[in-house]
Amino acid sequence: MTETRSRQIVIAGAGIAGLTAALAFAERGFPVRLFEQARQLEATGAGLQLSPNATRILRRLGVLDRLLPEAIRPQAVVLKDARSLRELARVPLGEAGEKRWGAPYLVAHRADLQAALMAAVAERPDIELVTGARVTNIAIEPQRVTATVESDGTATDVGGDLLVAADGVWSSVRAGLARTAGFAANRFSGELAWRATVPAETAAGQTFAQIGATDCVTTFLHPGFHMVAYPVSKGSSFNLAAFTKGERIAEGWSGHADPAILSAAMRSTAATLAKLAALAGPWTAFPIHTVAQRRWTMPEGIALIGDAAHAMTPFAAQGAAMAIEDAATLANLVADFPGDQRQSLTVWENLRRPRVEKVLKRGALNRLAWHAKGPVAVARNLVLATRPAEKLAADLDWLYGWEERTVMRR
Ligand SMILES: Cc1cc2nc3c(=O)[nH]c(=O)nc-3n(C[C@H](O)[C@H](O)[C@H](O)COP(=O)(O)OP(=O)(O)OC[C@H]3O[C@@H](n4cnc5c(N)ncnc54)[C@H](O)[C@@H]3O)c2cc1C
Repeated sequence: MTETRSRQIVIAGAGIAGLTAALAFAERGFPVRLFEQARQLEATGAGLQLSPNATRILRRLGVLDRLLPEAIRPQAVVLKDARSLRELARVPLGEAGEKRWGAPYLVAHRADLQAALMAAVAERPDIELVTGARVTNIAIEPQRVTATVESDGTATDVGGDLLVAADGVWSSVRAGLARTAGFAANRFSGELAWRATVPAETAAGQTFAQIGATDCVTTFLHPGFHMVAYPVSKGSSFNLAAFTKGERIAEGWSGHADPAILSAAMRSTAATLAKLAALAGPWTAFPIHTVAQRRWTMPEGIALIGDAAHAMTPFAAQGAAMAIEDAATLANLVADFPGDQRQSLTVWENLRRPRVEKVLKRGALNRLAWHAKGPVAVARNLVLATRPAEKLAADLDWLYGWEERTVMRR
């Protein structure tokens, strides 16, 4: 323990990955310094699905109890044809899912998850969170990493044994190391995410209630787009996210795109769904960027986690969940190999890569299946109609039933 306590962890970025990493490292006895460029941690994005593989970790870290009062446990994931509004499949969640996967499936506002993580961080004296502090440069020595942190126009060097880059899809740590260590830039995926939040009592909310299940995650499938909708804020609003092809727009998390792109993609959609899209506006468009990174660690003491390492399309709803898994497993492995950081980082990366790649494949498969047309869509609907709900749930056991100790035992 003495050795662990003397090893300083420095984290760049206090998003979902960085806050979870801070808690996970502190839990294993490490002192943590966490730097966030934003002055205030504001809620970006809107709703988030949190599957049991993530909520199990949040429970262990003392975050879940803080989140539960704000979150909703959807009863199922329901797939519907966007043209006929016919139900194609239903994967049971709720109590059945919790029993099956050992932790709840939740939908929540991203702000609520962030607030729950922050509250847990605030209770730990071994975590120093500094906001308004941007990591601008990294210097690597054989056994030590020094981050230059800029705050209020002043640059300070902060040394640590391990620098965790949890600074998101636009990671400046990754960019800074691009030339020396061959780290990759992110890429526009060619997809846009359109988001809107509609209060339940408005015309848009009532229109959704006519065609979607208000206590479920409903996904409408169509060759030109798919739309995911679920309740947030204790059911007082619905979070809508539609996905279409599109042009690259503003860099960053959000921007404005021509709503005609969404309307064109929704051609031949059921009238009530088209009405919902019209009433729900204005939509905010997010360009989806991904990161395909050959390496996530440097043996001298750098680990990229979450979107900084492997930002993915949201078609498996697993980006935040993978960030949470990354954070927890990294802290465990670094603690488990106290005398050999190089080995701990190699083992961590080798364990995480196959899991993340499998999730990426699942996302790509979902994208293909949900946007299928013609005979492929007919075959998809047939498969979904004949596969019992129990089997559809079992198909997700590898994803939602994953536990940290499964990784550690291998
Ligand atoms: C439309 C959409 C829907 C999604 N839905 C889901 C879902 O349902 N379920 C799910 O699991 N995932 C979902 N995701 C993915 C999920 O939102 C991301 O994967 C997750 O937020 C990544 O977290 P992160 O902490 O790695 O990065 P971020 O949340 O981007 O956090 C990075 C943090 O680092 C800070 N930062 C950046 N640079 C610096 C620096 N140089 N110094 C200091 N701080 C810095 C930033 O300000 C930010 O606070 C979705 C994504 C999209 C686009």
